[in-house]
Amino acid sequence: MRLNRALLRPLTGARLGSAVGLGSAIGLSSAVGLGFCVGLGFALGLGTLGAQASSLGAWALSQQGVLELRTSPNAELKAFFEAGRLGRGPRLWIDLPGAPSRSRSLRGNGPLREARIGRPDAQTTRLVLEFQPGTSLDPQQLRLVGTAADRWRLELKGLATAELLGLGEGDLEAPAPQRYAGLAPRQSSAVLFPTSPTPLSADGLPVVPRDRFKVVIDPGHGGPDPGAVGIGGLRETDVVLDVSLQVARLLQARGVQVLMTRTSEIDVDLPPRVALANGSGADAFVSIHANALSMNRPDVNGIETFYFEASGARSRALASALQRQMLAISPGSPDRGVRTGRFFVIRRTTMPAALIEMGFLTGASDSRRLAEPEFRRRMALALATAVLSYLGSLP
Ligand SMILES: [Zn+2]
Repeated sequence: MRLNRALLRPLTGARLGSAVGLGSAIGLSSAVGLGFCVGLGFALGLGTLGAQASSLGAWALSQQGVLELRTSPNAELKAFFEAGRLGRGPRLWIDLPGAPSRSRSLRGNGPLREARIGRPDAQTTRLVLEFQPGTSLDPQQLRLVGTAADRWRLELKGLATAELLGLGEGDLEAPAPQRYAGLAPRQSSAVLFPTSPTPLSADGLPVVPRDRFKVVIDPGHGGPDPGAVGIGGLRETDVVLDVSLQVARLLQARGVQVLMTRTSEIDVDLPPRVALANGSGADAFVSIHANALSMNRPDVNGIETFYFEASGARSRALASALQRQMLAISPGSPDRGVRTGRFFVIRRTTMPAALIEMGFLTGASDSRRLAEPEFRRRMALALATAVLSYLGSLP
């Protein structure tokens, strides 16, 4: 939290826009028009040695709109739905344990625009089905049902399948290895498709009236003050600056004016950060930090958000939205809560303000996540979603 003094060099939102390029959508850059290729029999990771191998063995979407998966036996799957908006169609995605050997996308057909295999973090395979704009799908009707220890089935009820040719990868019909033979089928398991609280990419962010709101983003520390330093030398200042710049760009893309207390590795004291915010007439102030304890405590992980109690209900609402979003993209990281605090930047700012701790750089699981560019991209989406939701709730 400690900050050194130096000259304040805030940049306006407009100048920020060129500072960094847009991150690639869900980390998939190579669009491969493989078409329908069930039966090619190439390995998707099942059977690969090593604990991190993807549990997705094969998948196929049939002409009738039925998605089938072959997985490692008794893999735990999670599924999400995101409604279409602003000229893009709805998407659904399924997260499976283990990471794929490579990310990729397949051009769809009929109502299916694209299928993607992504790697949202080092322990996860994500199968995304993105549909054409205007495609009608009701998430309440979706159930991913386990039909055997290593098989899953999802009927896309209501999907217009007239022009669907199907798509898939791997050999769905490969016989299960002998060692699975005795496992009971997962007759009763059904995974629901809740609407994801965090969009997959910038085009799913909440929409607010353009040119109406102003937000101050405060990347903690900077310059000679690296903030916390964690596992593998991961520095707080680097993590928070990367995330902050991405949040700023996402907010600007929704027509929010963004002021940053720093945009590079410079040293800025606390009073000028607050002075910038208080002189700006901003609607919200978000200070972005990462936590640290001791290198001897890799077991301590978790996410927390602070607000200054006397600053009122709006600060609390902002803090709650930020905390909820961070937790949604950090499964397994403990919820340390929305808490009151007396940090200078939230105590002395005059607009609703919150200070977030995105995880512990000294924690084994948090630091592994925070070191990953893809996780930081998702963190930025989560924080931007929270800020936009908060702004959108203002009268
Ligand atoms: Zn800090």
